[in-house]
Amino acid sequence: MSYPISATKLQAYNRCPYAYYLRYERRFNSNEFFGSAALGTSLHQALATLHRDWHYHEPIPKRKWIYHCWDEASTGLTPTQVEEGRTILEGYYDKFILSEPSLSKPLAVEGKIQAMLHIENLEFLISGRYDRIDFIDNGLELIDYKSSRDFKIPASDEMDLQIGLYFLALEQTYHQSLRYLSLLFLRTGEKVRYRATQRHKKQVRSVISDLAVRLRQDKTWEPTPGKQCDRCSYARYCPAVTPEPLPLPTTLSASSELQLALSL
Ligand code: SF4
Repeated sequence: MSYPISATKLQAYNRCPYAYYLRYERRFNSNEFFGSAALGTSLHQALATLHRDWHYHEPIPKRKWIYHCWDEASTGLTPTQVEEGRTILEGYYDKFILSEPSLSKPLAVEGKIQAMLHIENLEFLISGRYDRIDFIDNGLELIDYKSSRDFKIPASDEMDLQIGLYFLALEQTYHQSLRYLSLLFLRTGEKVRYRATQRHKKQVRSVISDLAVRLRQDKTWEPTPGKQCDRCSYARYCPAVTPEPLPLPTTLSASSELQLALSL
């Protein structure tokens, strides 16, 4: 049995072991750092159809192809959202398709990758989702669509972990190296490209190794206060930021993911 790990989990651990412990070891559900939007989901679906189901017999699809993809993906949205999404997709078409001599078929679209990693005598099951993986010279480019209103670049340490984890997972899945991870901001048409290197892979192994030691030795999950505390919904329970923290709910799980996942 394996201990499941993902970029989201590893980033949470890196931000604060105590928040990680509450969320993943004690399964204390909160909406900390999470959120979703129907328009964003529909945009992701439309882009998946656009790249996956295009026949690739012509250099680039005609504009009516994106309208078809959007009609399929936008059912259930409000009229305002439908209009907004259509405008966003038109912008995507103009910037990223019409400007190219031809549209290349991606290696994969909207999928899940998994990989195994053995560290400190523990087996970790790495899993992650991706929006699109393209072949480029000597490797792969992973595309992550961003549909939020703000053009907000994630913190560099969070990006480093995400890149390292995908580097490991893609190497095992496709036997190819990740060359770039790109964030594509749908509302502004900006594309931010990060070069993936062996350094990212080493860094992610080091953070997982630290997590493994903590899991094995049952070390304290100490809080590490920082700017993330402003958005942390565990703050009321956290001794690092609240002088008299609330006791944890008695309904929380007593067993850790490790005990469930591994035969020790
Ligand atoms: S408030 Fe800050 S230190 Fe406390 S658990 Fe949340 S992130 Fe960690």
